[in-house]
Parts: sequence; C-alpha cells; structure tokens
Amino acid sequence: MKSFDADALVRRFASPQGAPKKDYGAKIAAVLLCAGRGVRSGLPYNKMFFRIGDRTVLELALEALRGTGYFDAVVCAASPSDADEVRGLVGDGVIVFEGGETRTDSVRRALEAVPGDTDIVLIHDGARPFVGRETIEAVIESAIEYGSGIPAVRVVDAIKTVEDGFITGSPDREKLVCVQTPQGFRLSEIKDAYAKISGSYADDSEVYGLAGYRPHTVPGEYTNRKITTQADVFGLSAAYRIGFGYDVHRLVEGRDLVLGGIKIPHDKGLLGHSDADALVHAVMDALLSAAGMPDIGVLFPDTDPEYEGASSIMLLGKVRELARARGIKVLGLSCTVMAERPKLAKHIPAMIESIAAALGVPPDIVNIGATTTEKLGVVGDGLGIAAAACLLAGL
Ligand code: MG
Repeated sequence: MKSFDADALVRRFASPQGAPKKDYGAKIAAVLLCAGRGVRSGLPYNKMFFRIGDRTVLELALEALRGTGYFDAVVCAASPSDADEVRGLVGDGVIVFEGGETRTDSVRRALEAVPGDTDIVLIHDGARPFVGRETIEAVIESAIEYGSGIPAVRVVDAIKTVEDGFITGSPDREKLVCVQTPQGFRLSEIKDAYAKISGSYADDSEVYGLAGYRPHTVPGEYTNRKITTQADVFGLSAAYRIGFGYDVHRLVEGRDLVLGGIKIPHDKGLLGHSDADALVHAVMDALLSAAGMPDIGVLFPDTDPEYEGASSIMLLGKVRELARARGIKVLGLSCTVMAERPKLAKHIPAMIESIAAALGVPPDIVNIGATTTEKLGVVGDGLGIAAAACLLAGL
C-alpha cells in the first residue's frame, strides 16, 4: 500500500506553487490566524493541528503562503494554550504571539506585530490550507492597485432569509458572493480601519468597509475551503478503511484479569500466551485489518517465546507503529466487551484512557461498551470473555 502523500493532496486542491514569482516592488507580509478554538470542528483539539498525511493544517496553510515566495514576514496569532505548539510547528522565521479574545482582537494585535516598513499585508485563516498561488497574486495585485483585495466566489445555492422557520425573502443571487481569505490591504489603511472600529467582526473586509474604505473583490477559488466542521476535516482524508476485530479467551483461576490494559479485580483471569487481554487483541486485529495487514496471530505467534506473558497494551503500541508506517491514522474506535462477570462499567474510563494512549489518539474518539450475553453460550456460562472492535481509519 502506498503511503499517504500530503503534497499530492495539496496539488490536487491548490494551483501550482512553483510558478515564476512576479516582481511587485512592494514589501509584503502575511498574518496567519490560528487563535480560534475550532469548536465547530467537533475535534477535541484546535483544528489547525489536524494532520493531513504527515503535516498539520497549520503547516500546510503556512506552506501555501510561503511557497509563493512573496512574503517578507509572517506573523502568526495563536491562543495562549496553543502558542508553544504553534511555535514548534511553524519553526524559525515566523513571529508567533498570543492572539486576543476574538478574531478582531487577534487581527488588531497582529497588525501591530507586522514590520512597520510593510506595504501590503495579507490576512489569512489558518484553517484554509488549500489557497492557491493565483488567488494570492490576485489579492496582492488588487491591494496594490485599489488598497484591498478580497477573494470572492459566486454563491452556488439559492440564498433565503428566514424568520420563525418561514422563508421571508430571496435576495438577488447575482449580487451575492462568499468571501474568503487571504484578504490583502495596504498596511496603513487596514491599521487605520482597525484603530477606528470597535466590536467583533467575522472578516477584515467588513472592518475596512466600516472605516470608510471600499473593499475590492478578486476571483476566489472554490477549492480554497475553510475547515470548519468535523465533516470538512474528515473530508480531507484521501481514503478511509474500516477494520473489525474479534477475540475470546477462556477464564481460568490463578490468572490476572487484564482488559484494555487495565488489571481488573476478579477471582479468575483470561488464559493465553500473552496477558490474554481479549479487548486489546480485538483492537489490534481491527487496526491491522484496516491497514490491510496480517492479524496478530501471524504477527505475534503464540509459539514465539518473546510474547509469552507479553503486555498486550504494549503490543498495541507496536501495531500502531506498523499501521502508521503505512499512512494509517485512527479516526474512531468502537468496542464491545462481552462478559457475564465481573461488572466492567466502572473500569471503562480507565480502559478508554489506556487504549487511546497506546494508539496515540484523543480518548474522545474511543468508545467501549460492555454487555452480558444473558447467560447464553460460553460467555453466558462464565467460561470466557469476548471482545469485538470496529475501527475507522483515514489514509
Ligand atoms: Mg487473543
């Protein structure tokens, strides 16, 4: 299986970054905004840190700007809790500072951090990693000529106004556009606009317009998407795989009961060559299955003395590395443990933490349920414990 190629994805969305650079005879700076919390993305972390292949959204957005060669300075606004991580990602040559409470506050602060001899500043959302060279050039050219350049695309859907659930109007679509970023401005004018305006605004063209300037549009690109929802984030994966794993081990006396890497007090434990953690075995097989690899019986044979008494949660870490080497990223995991006894509910949070840590994923994407089998079958008779795992992976 070919490992995932982030550059290919960027090429697919964005226009070529290698085109010859034009000489505008102007000093140009970029402001990259990553101070948002990404709440709408549904991710437990800032969406700028979502990885597409081997790079984060933030790194790709930065590369899209810097790859053009037009920027003498880049200033990056990060929220206080993310600032260190952002610094680590953007590397040297980018000024990182803490943004404000709102987007408007962050931009106002960022403009103060832009070198004073800058002629043109482009303000870009860190959540738009697919901006193309043509858009950036059009924005710069418009900002030089008109004082501003706002990328805009025509509205595709019919737009309605709504009150109390009823449509009250149909604005003329010919007059409507969706605006994107980067939005470019003469530095002196946009600083003046932000100095005059208070309040919170969704974009810079509004602030510029309210201050008495006339924002000028340039053609944007539909591919210059903003990552806002979890659907957008998942949509960035080039492909998906699902994997399913199932395992059952016999319950015997004189063994520890280990499930999900957690030792659970019980008068019996699971019998096996390793620690016989049926849940982790099911998770490993689900991940291997998603990665198109042989199952754990092949990878860690019970004839190999190396794995005698082995910690399954440690082996899960190995499986994770194998899968990662194939470009597999775990996007979701759902498991069920089938046991008549003991009751598992109070141990599940610890099991989730342990499996998530071994997989290197946020606990929020791991779910574990427990069920009895109503005294039916080997599980119901208390002879064994079974587990099933279903895993979604992105390439
Ligand atoms: Mg097993």
